[in-house]
Amino acid sequence: MKFAESVERVRAERPALEFGTGVFDYAPAPEATDHVRLASRYGLFIGGEFVEPKSGRFLDTVNPATEEKLAEVAEGGEADVAAAVAAARAAFRSWSRLPGAERGKYVYRIARLIQEKARELAIVETMDGGKPIKEARDVDIPLAAAHFFHHAGWADKLAYAFPGRAPRPLGVCGQIIPWNFPLLMAAWKLAPALACGNTVVLKPAETTPLTALQLAGILREAELPPGVVNVVTGAGETGAHLVNHPDVAKIAFTGSTEVGKLIQRALAGTGKRLTLELGGKAANIVFADAALDQAVEGIVNGIYFNQGHVCCAGSRLLVEESIAEDLLARLEWRIRQLRVGDPLDKNTDVGAINSRAQLDKIRELTRCGVEEGAELHQSDCTLPARGYFFPPTWFTNVAQSHRIAREEIFGPVLAVMTFRTPDEAVEKANNLAYGLSAGVWTDKGAKIFAMTRRLRAGVVWANTFNKFDPTSPFGGYKESGFGREGGRHGLEAYLELA
Ligand code: NAP
Ligand code: MG
Repeated sequence: MKFAESVERVRAERPALEFGTGVFDYAPAPEATDHVRLASRYGLFIGGEFVEPKSGRFLDTVNPATEEKLAEVAEGGEADVAAAVAAARAAFRSWSRLPGAERGKYVYRIARLIQEKARELAIVETMDGGKPIKEARDVDIPLAAAHFFHHAGWADKLAYAFPGRAPRPLGVCGQIIPWNFPLLMAAWKLAPALACGNTVVLKPAETTPLTALQLAGILREAELPPGVVNVVTGAGETGAHLVNHPDVAKIAFTGSTEVGKLIQRALAGTGKRLTLELGGKAANIVFADAALDQAVEGIVNGIYFNQGHVCCAGSRLLVEESIAEDLLARLEWRIRQLRVGDPLDKNTDVGAINSRAQLDKIRELTRCGVEEGAELHQSDCTLPARGYFFPPTWFTNVAQSHRIAREEIFGPVLAVMTFRTPDEAVEKANNLAYGLSAGVWTDKGAKIFAMTRRLRAGVVWANTFNKFDPTSPFGGYKESGFGREGGRHGLEAYLELA
């Protein structure tokens, strides 16, 4: 059957839900924001207090869905980073000696306070970063709390986790995080560091600092001793000051491979510990024997969840040739049903692109896909007049050599390729500098195991995608980084094991 015929058949079987035409209407369902109190200006959180930056500089953070300024946050300079590291160093003396059971109580308290304030945190996450409120509400914030709960339980059991190895904390940890899951990435970093008895200086991303600052308020409410966690907002340069500070024992970085390489170079020979969680370009592999509608849901979740701003996004679809037409017809139908728009609306599936710069990057790589000869498809949804939006997009006729098949786009853009044999699928999936995650869709358990053993990726999902759990280690191969976060493996990154 020709692709056009498959599309016609699927369209006839499943009429499009024509939103806004009277055929099928969603009433707007905006989340209320009137109870959220944002300050007009935030200082740095150092030694348990919000303080004015010595740099005297501030940055705006905007709502990418409206382009409106939400607040000003301090831009930490070298002296600010030094003050935060000094506070963390002073706090380390007593925090590291506290019995694990006592440390665990603080971490539990943080987890519970995140749950209590979940609604406000979700709204601020959506306003500051553009993600759909249903994702902030159902994924980011509950998972952030889950990371603190999980690690609270480890605090008094480290000796059992590593029997006979006398685990000791490292000292002051510098933690640098990206903008795609702001509070969740802060939780991934802080929870294990605190459970293991370290103190921290956290540098949130420039475009999404607000939930980290709200978290600072939560830490104060939890009466975490001053200096145990310090939050220094700012830009890339602020992060670089943290990396280069001599009293930092370890750097934990999540972000782009490019910056990860700079950091690795900067730390060479210093003896500082380093973990890097970097970019990805996951292959989502669909075999002919897979449950196709289920696979379509997984493909959509894999690439359009959080506008595709996901390091482990399933941005390359590898589909077995014999079912490609059928699968792509179903996929096209499904993508056209996605609701794109106001992130604060509870019915929105795809929200705003995080920043103007990221939107420009997505546009450039999409243009490049067309120029290199791939076939562009886009949802014909109506985009809001203001704000940074990009329609759900997919490319067919993609060659392995195209930039859209090799580079991380970090947006709602899927590159579709086909394969004929499992060997070819493995070859194509692995033939890349990245190795963070992958997906396999098949009805056969044996095929799942055969494939997952051969895929060079830190996480491989089978008949599902984008599943996260604090008990499960996460991390990359090759240029996707090294070190693991989550579970017992994740603790090792924050301990000296004699
Ligand atoms: P990024 O540009 O590398 O930035 C990450 C963080 O590093 C930000 O806080 C950034 O500050 C800071 N930074 C920038 N330059 C620095 C420097 N020279 N020294 C120290 N810190 C510096 O990455 P991004 O664009 O925010 O995030 C997207 C990337 O993160 C993607 O590649 C994605 O795959 C990756 N990611 C990976 C994982 C994982 O677990 N593997 C998870 C999420 C995201 P500014 O915000 O001020 O630039
Ligand atoms: Mg923002």
